[in-house]
Amino acid sequence: MSNEELKDFCGAKVLVCDDDPTYLMLMRDTLEAEGFVVYEAADGDQAILQFEHVIPDIVLLDVEMPGLSGYQVCERIRDHKKGHDVPILMVTGADDYQSILKAYDIGATDFLPKPIRWPMIGHRVRYMLRSQNAVSDLKESQDRLKYLAYYDSLTGLPNRQNFNEHLERFLLLANRGEYHVGVLFIDLDRFKRINDTLGHNFGDKVLKKIAKILDSNIRNCDLIARSPDQIPETKVARLGGDEFTVFLSRVDSIDDIAQVAQRIIEEVSEPIMIEQYEVSVTPSIGISVYPNDGHTVTNLMKNADVAMYHAKEQGRSCFKFYSDSLNSRAKERLHLEQALRGAIENDEFELYYQPQMDTRDSSIAGVEALIRWNNPKLGIVSPAEFIPVAEETGMIIKIGEWVLRQACFQAKQWLDKGFSDFQMSINLSAVQFKRGTLVGLIQSVLKNTGLPPQMLKLEITESAVMTDVEENIVRLQQIKTLGVGIAVDDFGTGYSSLSYLKKFPIDTLKIDRSFIADINRNNDIAIVKAILALAESLGLDVVAEGVENQEQLRILNENNCFYIQGYLFSKPLDAQSCEALLINDRVLDISK
Ligand code: C2E
Ligand code: CA
Ligand code: CA
Repeated sequence: MSNEELKDFCGAKVLVCDDDPTYLMLMRDTLEAEGFVVYEAADGDQAILQFEHVIPDIVLLDVEMPGLSGYQVCERIRDHKKGHDVPILMVTGADDYQSILKAYDIGATDFLPKPIRWPMIGHRVRYMLRSQNAVSDLKESQDRLKYLAYYDSLTGLPNRQNFNEHLERFLLLANRGEYHVGVLFIDLDRFKRINDTLGHNFGDKVLKKIAKILDSNIRNCDLIARSPDQIPETKVARLGGDEFTVFLSRVDSIDDIAQVAQRIIEEVSEPIMIEQYEVSVTPSIGISVYPNDGHTVTNLMKNADVAMYHAKEQGRSCFKFYSDSLNSRAKERLHLEQALRGAIENDEFELYYQPQMDTRDSSIAGVEALIRWNNPKLGIVSPAEFIPVAEETGMIIKIGEWVLRQACFQAKQWLDKGFSDFQMSINLSAVQFKRGTLVGLIQSVLKNTGLPPQMLKLEITESAVMTDVEENIVRLQQIKTLGVGIAVDDFGTGYSSLSYLKKFPIDTLKIDRSFIADINRNNDIAIVKAILALAESLGLDVVAEGVENQEQLRILNENNCFYIQGYLFSKPLDAQSCEALLINDRVLDISK
């Protein structure tokens, strides 16, 4: 060993553990003379304490000790989060083959029989430290190689190889799980122009920035997924040049893929400031969908590429599906979304009101506000169709606020006309319910309209209430504190846990329409009965939704369910017609 190398390990920390004080002393003297810093332990427990305290560069362990044996100490060190790679030299009197094997088995690096030849010990320690260094150097360069093989060095994004392998693995799972997978092929429009006019260096900076935008966009998509088990697996990669690719897994519907593509176009197209220049880059996106457009990585990538060329032909800065049927569907949805954007300003919404009857005295116990959208181009669009779009795009916040104001305003007008014993029920979407500003909004609407809080009831679907339960309890309590009522909508379709239901400060369960529709079938009447029994034990009211005929009404009344909503009494009505019903309230005869 050269003098250089002797110096190399000067100051290295050596932990020595032996129950024989003579050995310990000799060990210390010899190693210190060679420039090492020595830490001592007289038994196994001390060795472990010292290890955690010092994190030595190397450990010398006597095998036979009272208490913890050297083997046990060695195992514990290997289990320690910093003990995985530390060289451990086992020192023992027994030089039989079995104990050597055992020492290696539990992770010892090397083995030294007693009696020790003292002049050699320093060399042995240095030798072990040196090979340890070589190993970590190798590991580092292997990691580096792996990084280079799987990541794009300019943007830090996964590269083509990485993407392909990932997609391949995923398709194996998709085969079994039967979900959709979307592959987006993204190409920047006229990127060459930037390179040519502003230089490659500048072009690289633009690419880096766009990689960041894509990456964070995709992360946000993960966050808006509905529930934790539905979080889609996503990946962005750079294929090379100005080509990127995005992979969306476990998508519920093709609409979700189109929405992600649309958002990528919007965000990437925002002007980017680099140095003193502002540049605008637009992307063209081609989309292939598993299993519709292919079952293998090669086919999916090829078809996404083909679709991308169609997008370019269509005038760039747009997305195209590989399959035409998906394109027309995406187009329809885009039209709907665009039309929805102007709907509030253009006064296209109207609230209808559907009465909820108390069959014991044939009075109207309340009305449910249901939104109607009449668009000059699209005609009347059902809320079942546009509410999900409004939720995904965030437009529901504005729409929901409009509904709340409008319905409270209407209820107050009716109150002023002398109808005081009814509640106005309003549907809250999950997106609205999760917003921190909800309680403040309700409070201000009540104040502005002058509606007494007990005349307002909010309907929240069972599935919305049952995700993030602990948070929801707090939110519901805040609403309750205002004096506003709460109903759980579409009850029976979700997975309510009884223990939670008990903790929710709610007033009403609304039995989902599907159970009422089939109530004369054995199974469903059992469910309805169970819900009624549950409600009774929790002291909750029950409203049956979607009651369409006398038979359903009879069965419900027989089972003590008296609040009824459905076409049997009335369809949702415009405000004027509903008011006429309120006037005739007690004149209604439901027995016929
Ligand atoms: P929902 O809250 O379950 O509302 C009840 C739906 O059942 C209404 O459909 C109503 O017209 C319909 N319905 C009532 N009685 C009967 C019946 O006897 N038979 C049948 N077949 N249907 C009946 P609509 O108005 O089309 O609303 C659909 C869904 O859209 C609502 O379901 C609700 O989830 C949502 N929605 C409606 N208005 C709003 C709103 O203002 N805000 C939010 N967030 N969602 C709304
Ligand atoms: Ca409802
Ligand atoms: Ca419902």
